[in-house]
Amino acid sequence: MVAIFDIDETLAMTFTPFLTYMNKKNGTSFNRFDFTTYDWSAVTGLSFEDLFKEHITFLNDFDEMSRIYSETGSEYIINQISAHDEIYALTDRDPSGKAGAEYLLDRLFPGKISKIIHATSDFGKYRTPKAEIVKKLDAKLFVDDSFDHIKQSLDAGVNAYLITRPWNKHEGIPKERRLKNLFQLSKEIDRIYK
Ligand SMILES: [Mg+2]
Repeated sequence: MVAIFDIDETLAMTFTPFLTYMNKKNGTSFNRFDFTTYDWSAVTGLSFEDLFKEHITFLNDFDEMSRIYSETGSEYIINQISAHDEIYALTDRDPSGKAGAEYLLDRLFPGKISKIIHATSDFGKYRTPKAEIVKKLDAKLFVDDSFDHIKQSLDAGVNAYLITRPWNKHEGIPKERRLKNLFQLSKEIDRIYK
């Protein structure tokens, strides 16, 4: 069986370095707490196309990637799980950024993530709901920062957890399905793998 984690803002803290990159480029001063919604266009006033293009450029810039660190507790949790199970990363990043994703995950969690699955293709034109993927793979555990993905996964009967971020903190979800950080999965991992 397999445990599945989203990459951006779940395993890897990519959003603040991205904002730093964008602020420098555009002379703005946004920080992550300005983003109380997933709709980046609404917050920044930039078009979806421009943001999408910049995000892909950023995620494939190997210099920028050196500024990305891992989520609190993630190494510990990934190490714990990898003693028992395979770990996949499931991302909405475009497959054109596969090399960047592999490089990043290999730097943060060397040898621990056995597969990267892209839920989207053709720059967002095609999209398979993550809930559908994790259900099909019979994931023992799924963690993401997207309320929609977690809500749909819970509805499909998947053991899913939402990691709290400014853009999902007001969403209604059972308290026991929220994580402040990945350390909070310790008990759940003991339960699953004992
Ligand atoms: Mg994410």
